[in-house]
Amino acid sequence: MMTRKRLALILASFFLLAATCVALPLLFDKTPRARVTFLNVGQGDAVLIQTSGGQRVLIDAGPDGSVGAELARALPFWADSLDAVIITHAHADHYGGLPTILKRFKVGWLIYGQSSLTDGSVGAINEAAVSGGSRVGTVATSKKMNVGHCLLELGGLPETQDRNDQSLVGRLKCDDESWMFLGDLSAEHQSDLIRKHPDWRSDIVKISHHGSDDGLNEELLKAVGAKYAVISVGKENKFGHPSLRSLKKLERLGVQVFRTDIGGAINVLVDKGKTVLNYAGKDLLIK
Ligand SMILES: [Zn+2]
Repeated sequence: MMTRKRLALILASFFLLAATCVALPLLFDKTPRARVTFLNVGQGDAVLIQTSGGQRVLIDAGPDGSVGAELARALPFWADSLDAVIITHAHADHYGGLPTILKRFKVGWLIYGQSSLTDGSVGAINEAAVSGGSRVGTVATSKKMNVGHCLLELGGLPETQDRNDQSLVGRLKCDDESWMFLGDLSAEHQSDLIRKHPDWRSDIVKISHHGSDDGLNEELLKAVGAKYAVISVGKENKFGHPSLRSLKKLERLGVQVFRTDIGGAINVLVDKGKTVLNYAGKDLLIK
Protein backbone atom coordinates (compact mmCIF):
# COMPACT_ATOMS: atom_id res chain seq x y z
CA MET A 1 0.00 0.00 0.00
CA MET A 2 1.26 3.50 -0.84
CA THR A 3 2.14 5.63 2.16
CA ARG A 4 0.70 9.15 2.46
CA LYS A 5 4.18 10.61 2.32
CA ARG A 6 4.92 8.80 -0.93
CA LEU A 7 1.60 9.89 -2.44
CA ALA A 8 2.31 13.52 -1.46
CA LEU A 9 5.75 13.26 -3.05
CA ILE A 10 4.31 11.88 -6.29
CA LEU A 11 1.62 14.59 -6.39
CA ALA A 12 4.19 17.33 -5.68
CA SER A 13 6.44 16.01 -8.49
CA PHE A 14 3.50 15.93 -10.84
CA PHE A 15 2.56 19.56 -10.10
CA LEU A 16 6.19 20.66 -10.39
CA LEU A 17 6.42 18.98 -13.80
CA ALA A 18 3.14 20.54 -14.93
CA ALA A 19 4.26 23.99 -13.76
CA THR A 20 7.59 23.58 -15.59
CA CYS A 21 5.77 22.61 -18.79
CA VAL A 22 3.72 25.81 -18.60
CA ALA A 23 6.58 28.10 -17.51
CA LEU A 24 9.35 26.84 -19.78
CA PRO A 25 7.84 28.00 -23.06
CA LEU A 26 7.11 31.40 -21.49
CA LEU A 27 10.68 31.63 -20.23
CA PHE A 28 12.26 30.78 -23.56
CA ASP A 29 9.71 32.42 -25.82
CA LYS A 30 11.37 35.65 -26.89
CA THR A 31 9.10 35.94 -29.89
CA PRO A 32 8.63 39.66 -30.55
CA ARG A 33 5.33 40.95 -31.98
CA ALA A 34 6.46 39.67 -35.36
CA ARG A 35 9.47 37.84 -36.69
CA VAL A 36 10.19 37.14 -40.34
CA THR A 37 13.06 34.77 -41.12
CA PHE A 38 14.51 34.28 -44.57
CA LEU A 39 15.84 30.75 -44.06
CA ASN A 40 19.21 29.76 -45.44
CA VAL A 41 18.09 26.93 -47.70
CA GLY A 42 20.72 27.35 -50.43
CA GLN A 43 19.47 27.89 -53.98
CA GLY A 44 15.75 28.33 -53.28
CA ASP A 45 13.26 30.21 -51.12
CA ALA A 46 11.73 29.65 -47.68
CA VAL A 47 10.42 32.47 -45.49
CA LEU A 48 8.98 31.91 -42.03
CA ILE A 49 6.52 34.37 -40.47
CA GLN A 50 5.93 34.12 -36.70
CA THR A 51 3.79 36.32 -34.50
CA SER A 52 3.66 36.84 -30.74
CA GLY A 53 0.27 35.10 -30.75
CA GLY A 54 2.01 31.87 -31.83
CA GLN A 55 0.92 31.90 -35.47
CA ARG A 56 3.39 30.42 -37.95
CA VAL A 57 3.21 30.64 -41.72
CA LEU A 58 5.87 29.49 -44.15
CA ILE A 59 6.18 30.86 -47.67
CA ASP A 60 7.93 28.21 -49.80
CA ALA A 61 9.75 25.14 -48.59
CA GLY A 62 13.25 25.46 -50.09
CA PRO A 63 14.81 22.93 -52.48
CA ASP A 64 15.37 19.99 -50.10
CA GLY A 65 15.47 18.67 -46.54
CA SER A 66 17.76 21.51 -45.41
CA VAL A 67 14.60 23.42 -44.53
CA GLY A 68 14.10 21.03 -41.57
CA ALA A 69 17.26 22.13 -39.76
CA GLU A 70 16.61 25.78 -40.63
CA LEU A 71 13.08 25.61 -39.20
CA ALA A 72 14.41 23.90 -36.06
CA ARG A 73 16.75 26.86 -35.56
CA ALA A 74 14.12 29.52 -36.24
CA LEU A 75 11.20 28.03 -34.28
CA PRO A 76 10.84 27.50 -30.53
CA PHE A 77 11.86 23.95 -29.64
CA TRP A 78 8.33 22.88 -28.72
CA ALA A 79 6.84 23.97 -32.07
CA ASP A 80 5.35 21.00 -33.88
CA SER A 81 2.88 22.72 -36.19
CA LEU A 82 2.63 25.35 -38.90
CA ASP A 83 -0.68 27.12 -39.52
CA ALA A 84 -0.04 27.32 -43.25
CA VAL A 85 2.58 26.59 -45.87
CA ILE A 86 2.25 28.62 -49.06
CA ILE A 87 3.91 27.21 -52.17
CA THR A 88 4.43 30.12 -54.55
CA HIS A 89 4.87 27.97 -57.67
CA ALA A 90 5.69 24.49 -58.88
CA HIS A 91 9.47 24.71 -59.15
CA ALA A 92 11.46 22.33 -56.97
CA ASP A 93 13.60 25.08 -55.39
CA HIS A 94 10.34 26.30 -53.79
CA TYR A 95 8.52 23.04 -52.92
CA GLY A 96 11.34 20.42 -52.67
CA GLY A 97 11.51 20.61 -48.85
CA LEU A 98 7.78 20.06 -48.40
CA PRO A 99 7.99 16.29 -47.67
CA THR A 100 10.50 17.00 -44.85
CA ILE A 101 8.17 19.64 -43.41
CA LEU A 102 5.16 17.32 -43.57
CA LYS A 103 7.14 14.61 -41.75
CA ARG A 104 8.06 16.93 -38.87
CA PHE A 105 5.14 19.33 -38.54
CA LYS A 106 1.38 19.28 -38.54
CA VAL A 107 0.48 21.65 -41.36
CA GLY A 108 -2.98 23.23 -41.08
CA TRP A 109 -3.29 24.62 -44.59
CA LEU A 110 -1.38 24.15 -47.81
CA ILE A 111 -1.93 27.08 -50.14
CA TYR A 112 -1.05 27.10 -53.82
CA GLY A 113 -1.42 29.32 -56.85
CA GLN A 114 -4.05 28.14 -59.27
CA SER A 115 -1.70 26.11 -61.51
CA SER A 116 0.68 24.43 -59.04
CA LEU A 117 -1.49 21.41 -58.30
CA THR A 118 -1.50 20.39 -61.96
CA ASP A 119 2.21 19.56 -61.55
CA GLY A 120 2.58 15.80 -60.93
CA SER A 121 5.24 16.04 -58.18
CA VAL A 122 3.40 18.76 -56.28
CA GLY A 123 0.13 16.85 -56.69
CA ALA A 124 1.66 13.66 -55.20
CA ILE A 125 3.13 15.50 -52.19
CA ASN A 126 -0.19 17.27 -51.70
CA GLU A 127 -2.11 13.99 -51.70
CA ALA A 128 0.11 12.68 -48.89
CA ALA A 129 -0.43 15.94 -46.99
CA VAL A 130 -4.20 15.72 -47.31
CA SER A 131 -4.23 12.14 -46.01
CA GLY A 132 -2.16 13.45 -43.08
CA GLY A 133 -4.91 15.95 -42.25
CA SER A 134 -3.82 19.17 -44.03
CA ARG A 135 -6.44 21.26 -45.77
CA VAL A 136 -5.83 22.70 -49.23
CA GLY A 137 -6.52 26.15 -50.59
CA THR A 138 -5.77 27.68 -53.98
CA VAL A 139 -5.51 31.36 -54.72
CA ALA A 140 -6.67 32.48 -58.13
CA THR A 141 -5.81 36.17 -58.23
CA SER A 142 -6.04 37.51 -54.69
CA LYS A 143 -6.63 36.55 -51.08
CA LYS A 144 -6.24 38.24 -47.71
CA MET A 145 -5.03 36.19 -44.73
CA ASN A 146 -4.72 37.21 -41.12
CA VAL A 147 -1.52 35.91 -39.50
CA GLY A 148 -2.18 36.86 -35.89
CA HIS A 149 -2.24 40.67 -35.86
CA CYS A 150 -0.44 40.82 -39.24
CA LEU A 151 -2.11 40.91 -42.63
CA LEU A 152 -0.78 38.84 -45.51
CA GLU A 153 -2.20 39.67 -48.92
CA LEU A 154 -1.56 37.19 -51.72
CA GLY A 155 -1.84 37.91 -55.41
CA GLY A 156 -1.30 36.10 -58.67
CA LEU A 157 -1.62 36.60 -62.41
CA PRO A 158 -4.87 35.42 -63.99
CA GLU A 159 -3.53 32.91 -66.56
CA THR A 160 -0.02 32.20 -67.72
CA GLN A 161 1.91 29.18 -69.01
CA ASP A 162 5.22 30.38 -67.56
CA ARG A 163 5.98 28.64 -64.27
CA ASN A 164 7.85 31.60 -62.76
CA ASP A 165 4.99 33.90 -63.69
CA GLN A 166 2.55 31.56 -61.95
CA SER A 167 4.22 32.67 -58.68
CA LEU A 168 1.95 33.80 -55.90
CA VAL A 169 3.30 37.05 -54.53
CA GLY A 170 2.70 38.29 -51.03
CA ARG A 171 2.63 41.53 -49.15
CA LEU A 172 2.85 41.37 -45.37
CA LYS A 173 2.11 44.17 -42.94
CA CYS A 174 2.86 43.84 -39.21
CA ASP A 175 2.38 47.03 -37.18
CA ASP A 176 4.45 49.66 -39.04
CA GLU A 177 6.62 47.21 -40.96
CA SER A 178 5.95 45.82 -44.41
CA TRP A 179 7.44 43.16 -46.66
CA MET A 180 6.94 42.01 -50.21
CA PHE A 181 7.65 38.45 -51.35
CA LEU A 182 7.93 38.18 -55.11
CA GLY A 183 8.43 34.45 -55.63
CA ASP A 184 10.08 34.11 -59.05
CA LEU A 185 7.75 36.53 -60.85
CA SER A 186 9.40 38.07 -63.92
CA ALA A 187 10.24 41.77 -63.96
CA GLU A 188 7.80 42.28 -66.84
CA HIS A 189 4.84 41.12 -64.74
CA GLN A 190 5.96 42.94 -61.59
CA SER A 191 4.84 46.12 -63.36
CA ASP A 192 1.31 44.62 -63.66
CA LEU A 193 1.45 43.80 -59.97
CA ILE A 194 2.09 47.35 -58.80
CA ARG A 195 -0.58 48.71 -61.10
CA LYS A 196 -3.03 46.23 -59.55
CA HIS A 197 -1.93 46.95 -55.98
CA PRO A 198 -0.79 50.59 -55.82
CA ASP A 199 -1.17 50.55 -52.01
CA TRP A 200 1.39 47.76 -51.47
CA ARG A 201 4.18 49.86 -50.02
CA SER A 202 6.96 47.65 -48.67
CA ASP A 203 10.16 48.51 -46.81
CA ILE A 204 11.68 45.07 -47.32
CA VAL A 205 11.43 43.21 -50.63
CA LYS A 206 12.39 39.59 -51.21
CA ILE A 207 13.83 40.04 -54.68
CA SER A 208 12.33 37.79 -57.32
CA HIS A 209 14.09 34.78 -58.84
CA HIS A 210 17.17 34.79 -56.61
CA GLY A 211 18.42 38.10 -58.01
CA SER A 212 18.53 37.04 -61.66
CA ASP A 213 18.49 39.62 -64.45
CA ASP A 214 14.86 38.95 -65.34
CA GLY A 215 13.70 39.22 -61.70
CA LEU A 216 14.59 42.82 -60.94
CA ASN A 217 12.13 45.58 -61.69
CA GLU A 218 13.32 49.08 -60.75
CA GLU A 219 9.85 50.55 -61.31
CA LEU A 220 8.40 48.22 -58.66
CA LEU A 221 11.15 48.90 -56.14
CA LYS A 222 10.66 52.66 -56.52
CA ALA A 223 6.86 52.43 -56.44
CA VAL A 224 6.71 50.38 -53.24
CA GLY A 225 9.41 52.49 -51.54
CA ALA A 226 11.78 49.55 -50.98
CA LYS A 227 14.66 50.35 -48.64
CA TYR A 228 16.01 46.83 -48.10
CA ALA A 229 16.31 43.87 -50.43
CA VAL A 230 16.72 40.22 -49.49
CA ILE A 231 18.19 37.82 -52.03
CA SER A 232 17.63 34.15 -51.21
CA VAL A 233 20.36 32.34 -53.11
CA GLY A 234 22.83 29.42 -52.87
CA LYS A 235 26.61 29.83 -52.59
CA GLU A 236 28.37 29.50 -55.97
CA ASN A 237 25.15 28.35 -57.67
CA LYS A 238 25.33 27.21 -61.30
CA PHE A 239 22.95 29.95 -62.50
CA GLY A 240 25.22 32.82 -61.56
CA HIS A 241 22.53 34.31 -59.29
CA PRO A 242 22.38 37.05 -58.29
CA SER A 243 23.43 38.85 -61.47
CA LEU A 244 25.93 41.68 -61.30
CA ARG A 245 23.48 43.82 -63.25
CA SER A 246 20.76 43.30 -60.61
CA LEU A 247 23.18 44.16 -57.81
CA LYS A 248 24.26 47.35 -59.65
CA LYS A 249 20.63 48.41 -60.13
CA LEU A 250 19.93 47.92 -56.41
CA GLU A 251 23.02 49.94 -55.54
CA ARG A 252 21.93 52.76 -57.87
CA LEU A 253 18.51 52.82 -56.21
CA GLY A 254 20.13 53.06 -52.77
CA VAL A 255 18.50 49.78 -51.65
CA GLN A 256 20.60 47.90 -49.10
CA VAL A 257 21.08 44.23 -49.99
CA PHE A 258 21.11 41.22 -47.66
CA ARG A 259 21.99 37.80 -49.10
CA THR A 260 21.47 34.37 -47.57
CA ASP A 261 24.57 32.98 -49.36
CA ILE A 262 26.76 35.55 -47.59
CA GLY A 263 25.03 36.17 -44.24
CA GLY A 264 23.04 32.95 -43.74
CA ALA A 265 19.49 33.16 -42.41
CA ILE A 266 18.17 36.73 -42.14
CA ASN A 267 15.89 37.63 -39.23
CA VAL A 268 13.65 40.68 -39.11
CA LEU A 269 12.15 41.38 -35.69
CA VAL A 270 9.35 43.86 -35.10
CA ASP A 271 8.60 44.92 -31.55
CA LYS A 272 7.70 48.09 -29.63
CA GLY A 273 7.56 50.20 -32.81
CA LYS A 274 11.08 49.22 -33.85
CA THR A 275 12.47 46.88 -36.48
CA VAL A 276 15.77 45.07 -36.00
CA LEU A 277 17.35 43.13 -38.84
CA ASN A 278 19.80 40.44 -37.83
CA TYR A 279 22.36 39.68 -40.53
CA ALA A 280 25.63 37.74 -40.27
CA GLY A 281 25.50 37.87 -36.47
CA LYS A 282 24.89 41.63 -36.30
CA ASP A 283 21.73 43.46 -35.19
CA LEU A 284 20.87 46.48 -37.34
CA LEU A 285 18.16 48.89 -36.20
CA ILE A 286 16.37 49.67 -39.45
CA LYS A 287 13.26 51.41 -38.05
ZN1 LIG B 1 13.24 29.86 -57.63
